[in-house]
Amino acid sequence: MKLLVISPHLDDAALSCAWLLQHHPWSRVVSVFAGMPPNALTVSTDWDRNCGFASAGAAIEARRYEDGCACQKLDADPIWLDFADGQYGRQPRQAALEEQFESILEKADGAVVVIPLGLHHPDHIAVSDAALVALQRQQRTCIAYHETPYRALPGVVEKRITCLTAAGFSLQALSELSGSIAWKNGVVETYASQWPRLQIDALLDARDVLRPERFSTVATPRQYRRDRPTAVMRSFRRPYLVSSQPQLDKNHRLLRQSGEGSYERETYEDWNS
Ligand SMILES: [Zn+2]
Repeated sequence: MKLLVISPHLDDAALSCAWLLQHHPWSRVVSVFAGMPPNALTVSTDWDRNCGFASAGAAIEARRYEDGCACQKLDADPIWLDFADGQYGRQPRQAALEEQFESILEKADGAVVVIPLGLHHPDHIAVSDAALVALQRQQRTCIAYHETPYRALPGVVEKRITCLTAAGFSLQALSELSGSIAWKNGVVETYASQWPRLQIDALLDARDVLRPERFSTVATPRQYRRDRPTAVMRSFRRPYLVSSQPQLDKNHRLLRQSGEGSYERETYEDWNS
């Protein structure tokens, strides 16, 4: 079974889902904020400078290369969307993210969709919210990964689950997943421009990245009130559970869902059209 893993930045899927992807070769990893900001050759942020880059353009080029190498180790196809990282100043319109995800889901109906739970970072919350709206419109369930290392911050997982549950989503924890620490460490180190910086971040516990991966299934509410798109996280009423909710077997492999199909490889351009 193939997965379609949505990754806010060029590293989140590998940090949080490497062992999951290891079990599901030839999956896809869609990195959302992988685009160049306007004036990419002149714009520069503290984070990028601290990672050794003179411009946003150089940073993104290097990160795409690193992501390509990591995806090779994960046996996954990388897809890079053109949205610019929040650090460059302008968040995309939420509706634009939702439209992009709806288009992606339409092209990947045979894959199990894996999204970030939406922890701590504004880019992560924006991606998670938009993906949930798109999934809800198509009446699909998904698996959410608890993003590491943010999940180690006190209270952030509980806060997000409370928010989603209040909005009518039904979450169910799956068993933890782990594997070879050395192998995952090798994947994570592929992100050579960012991983060393992450390890000295005063707020985050980078060691959490090598702890077992955590997931929940998320069933979307039945009713979407189109008149209040910005209040989507509050506007759902009755939760419901669908019968095709993805589940893991005792070997942590995803059990096959009914109606599963296969898909052809597509190009980067197909996914950005
Ligand atoms: Zn991220």
